[in-house]
Amino acid sequence: MADTLADAMRATRAEVMGEAPAGQRDLLVGIDVGGTTVKVALVSQEGEVIANDAVRTESMKTPEEVAAAAQAIKAIADAAKAEGDRVAAVGLAVPGVVSPDDELLLSPNITLDLGALVEKLKDVFGVGVYPVNDANAAALGELWQGAGSGDSLVFVTLGTGVGGGVVVGGKVIVGGKGSAGEIGHLTIEPDGRLCGCGRGGCLEMYASSRGVVLNYRDECEKSGAEPVELEHDAHALPIFDAARNGSPEAVAAVDRMGRALGQAMATIACVVDPAAFVIGGGMSPAFDLFGPALMDEYRKDVISACADTPIVVAELGNLAGMLGSAYHAANRAGLAVKVWQKS
Ligand SMILES: [Zn+2]
Repeated sequence: MADTLADAMRATRAEVMGEAPAGQRDLLVGIDVGGTTVKVALVSQEGEVIANDAVRTESMKTPEEVAAAAQAIKAIADAAKAEGDRVAAVGLAVPGVVSPDDELLLSPNITLDLGALVEKLKDVFGVGVYPVNDANAAALGELWQGAGSGDSLVFVTLGTGVGGGVVVGGKVIVGGKGSAGEIGHLTIEPDGRLCGCGRGGCLEMYASSRGVVLNYRDECEKSGAEPVELEHDAHALPIFDAARNGSPEAVAAVDRMGRALGQAMATIACVVDPAAFVIGGGMSPAFDLFGPALMDEYRKDVISACADTPIVVAELGNLAGMLGSAYHAANRAGLAVKVWQKS
């Protein structure tokens, strides 16, 4: 019996949302594999992060390394569960191309035997384990509990590269070869700067942190200005600082970044017409600097029907990959999570 009106309202909400009390819940585990750490969250089917933690793992290649990682992940989930709670599905975000058959096709930044890790996690949890590309996972996380505002979005992640995730009807578009959403390799400058993919003029070469450094060095060369000191070829932070302080070369470099993004996103809008674009990744906090040029170029280039599509900054930070992989797992396991449950 509820003692107060507030208790009664909470009870009603729990009933409506289908929330079970601690100890009787079917929960999700969302895992986000990075270069040196594995982040793990225990998540309710309503998208609440019950607990999250991380383990250090340099490599998950040998059977011993894989087994140790799986046990460490299980220990985090067990510590956060109330007695009687069950794990219903496990999602696994990885930095690489995941094929429609859940195979890791390309993972340049990590030593990982994905097949072995999936099998080991199935063993220790006793439920389905569903891998997903990490940018796709972040897209799903933002759709479910973050900056999304409908059942579709295009997520753009700005780091040392440019990645993306395309979600339509609440499901991430993987594509025939697992390469859907590789928006960093949209050509924005025919015969432009040579990209790591072997072609010229990809978005990534103008709008990633490496791209911003290249934009800046070009501008300094043009004007003859002495560049600010950069620690490495992807060290864009001092350029954003210089842009804030009014350096014309830095302002032009950041403007070039914004325009490249606007151009690419206008192209994407013609194909996907998402409910929103969400900008995440390490450079997204500089949106106040590159956003105006991005918006200006986007509106110039896009079809009129999509001119007012919201372009917003991601809200979930590090949680996006964990929440999104949990959501992906729930979808794949046929659990009844709903798109867009943000209250
Ligand atoms: Zn490329």
